[in-house]
Amino acid sequence: MMQKRACVYTVGCRLNQAESGIIEDKLRDAGYVIVPFGNEADVGIINTCTVTREADAKCRQAVRSFIRKNPMAYTAVVGCYSQLAFKTLAEIRGVDLIIGTQEKLNVVNYITDKKNPIPVVVRDTIQRDDFTIDASGYTQIQERTNLKIQDGCDFMCAFCAIPFARGRARSRQFRNTLEEARQLVDRGVREIILTGVNIGMYRSENYTLCDVVDALAAIPGLTRIRVSSIEPTTIPEGLLDRMVAYDHPLVPFLHIPAQSGSNRILELMKRRYSREDFLEFIQLAVNKVPDLCIGTDLMVGFPGETDEDFWATYTLLKESPIAYAHVFKYSERRNTAASRMVDKVSNAVQDKRSALLRELSSEKRSAFHEKFVGRIRTVLFESEVGDGLWCGHTDNYITVLAKWKDGKANTFVPVRIQKLSGDHVIGSIENRNVQ
Ligand code: SF4
Repeated sequence: MMQKRACVYTVGCRLNQAESGIIEDKLRDAGYVIVPFGNEADVGIINTCTVTREADAKCRQAVRSFIRKNPMAYTAVVGCYSQLAFKTLAEIRGVDLIIGTQEKLNVVNYITDKKNPIPVVVRDTIQRDDFTIDASGYTQIQERTNLKIQDGCDFMCAFCAIPFARGRARSRQFRNTLEEARQLVDRGVREIILTGVNIGMYRSENYTLCDVVDALAAIPGLTRIRVSSIEPTTIPEGLLDRMVAYDHPLVPFLHIPAQSGSNRILELMKRRYSREDFLEFIQLAVNKVPDLCIGTDLMVGFPGETDEDFWATYTLLKESPIAYAHVFKYSERRNTAASRMVDKVSNAVQDKRSALLRELSSEKRSAFHEKFVGRIRTVLFESEVGDGLWCGHTDNYITVLAKWKDGKANTFVPVRIQKLSGDHVIGSIENRNVQ
């Protein structure tokens, strides 16, 4: 009998990517073969995001395109957009199953052999307790793998729908987290990226984020631990100490969303810090941690943002040691506090402001990369991207391309950084100490 084919399409953040990996593994355990999205399949799962209007549109488009190509296939839509916009999704002809946040990782248990005449909707109350994930079936491993340790958020920033889509903050049980980390390392993972919605708030029993990082550090064979996006005000100073410690695998990298450089806007956004607090922390961090890369998220066009507010954001990026910024345009989300604010910023102004910030971000990235030209840095190589050309990352998240005859994925190699090239650098392999 032919093995059934399934594909998973992910819209959105690193946490969604981590969860899609878990869903794929559960599909394999259930006997499916995973095929790329776009191929013919018997089952299609679209793991959705609702962070902006564009994300919503991308989800609907992915659902429609899967159904068009596979009209007889079983179509399931899961995740944040399903949680909030289940009615809109139910109107798309051909959708069989809509699952919100609580049950999304169990989607495989809901799939049936027959298509449903009307979509089944599963939108359970999102639990608040610590959670576990049965990830024993992990089969598809990459050298850098996301590990989900936390979900949901209690912060209720004025622009954000995530607390509605993913529920309140909750943490993955400490032992269950370590169990999966050990399995990943046993299967060859060299770098683990800790992911969640608000990972600085990790609390399971009495364990904190620093405890997770230390417990992972004790796993033999795990060479790098990376913390993904983390909210200002939630970063324990102990994290910086670990980045500096010679024998600790926590890498010198932080992605801290500032969102705005204007105190007036930060207050309207209900963020929990001022421009000065943010700048003080990142200055402390770069003084303490050599070669630290700090990235940020910046939003333009929040309701009421004046030119003056925007320039405050611009100077925050320009004058601080931030290495790069991801720039987003404000997107109105239903039921959020910001959606009730009246003083909207036009699309044209938003476009202009985001273009200015993007340009500045690429200048800042180049200036950061420039500091490493001529120096040797260890690179974890991931894949061959062209004829003998390999791509990988340094610990402080510089993307490196290097010619490497007989290259091998999942290998740490010392590389001399030679020159800048767009948003990455070109390096040459130093033929020593290949690990
Ligand atoms: S911290 Fe704010 S922006 Fe981030 S998920 Fe929570 S509510 Fe949203």
